[in-house]
Amino acid sequence: MQSIPHTLAGITSIVICSKYPVLGAFVATGSHALLDMVNESGFKMKDNIIFDMIPTIMCFLVSIYTQNFWVFFKGWAFGNLFDLYDKKMYLTMFFPNKFKRTERFHWGKPCINPHVNVTKLIGIVSMILIALILYKV
Ligand SMILES: [Zn+2]
Repeated sequence: MQSIPHTLAGITSIVICSKYPVLGAFVATGSHALLDMVNESGFKMKDNIIFDMIPTIMCFLVSIYTQNFWVFFKGWAFGNLFDLYDKKMYLTMFFPNKFKRTERFHWGKPCINPHVNVTKLIGIVSMILIALILYKV
């Protein structure tokens, strides 16, 4: 699963568990394994930029505008923690020859295989939901 749905799950966990921040961080981190059961086959680098990176940047800007940067950052960081480790802060995507991906937190095989258009839609819907949450918090 790409990074923006992980961010959505992370932010949702952080907001719902706001009275128990450590629990929120654990739930946000754990949600990663659950969402990684959804495959992203057919998702190309260009799709990654349009349906994952740009939505993440948009949500970052909304978090600045709504003064909820730390909610966004904690949700992003804990929701994507397993990828930040295994994908070496995403450097494996940009420099695959220099940085090698590890499988420490990605031993399971994805078992849900949505169409690539559904994966794109998940990116857009996640962005909208994150923006709404950041406005409401
Ligand atoms: Zn992952």
